Amino acid sequence: MSISDNIANEAVRPCPHCGQGSGFFVSPEKIAEMLREIPISPNLAAEEAVFNKRLEECGKCDSLREQVLCFHCGCFVMFRARPHKSHCPHPRGDRWKDIEIKLVK
Ligand code: SF4
Repeated sequence: MSISDNIANEAVRPCPHCGQGSGFFVSPEKIAEMLREIPISPNLAAEEAVFNKRLEECGKCDSLREQVLCFHCGCFVMFRARPHKSHCPHPRGDRWKDIEIKLVK
C-alpha cells in the first residue's frame, strides 16, 4: 500500500492547523510508516536519542495537534524532528534547543 493510499484511507477532518475546510487525519502509526518509506541520509539525520527527546518535548507541548502536527509550522513533528539541523518553531522559544546539551551531560 502506498503513502497516498494510507492517507486516503484515513477519516477526513477539518484541518487541525487552521480549522478550515477538510484535511486528513493521519495517525502517529501512519506517520511512522511514512518515515520508514521516505529515508533520510544518515549524514542529515539527528541522532535517535535527539529525535526521541524532540518528540517527547512535542508530546508535552500545547501546540501539538492531533498527536502529530505542529500548530506553528504545520509540519508533522516526526518529519520536522528528523533532520539534525532542525529547530522547534514555538514563538516563545525553541523548545528543542538544549536537548543535545542535556543528552551529553
Ligand atoms: S512548537 Fe515545538 S515542541 Fe511544540 S509541537 Fe511544534 S515543534 Fe513540537
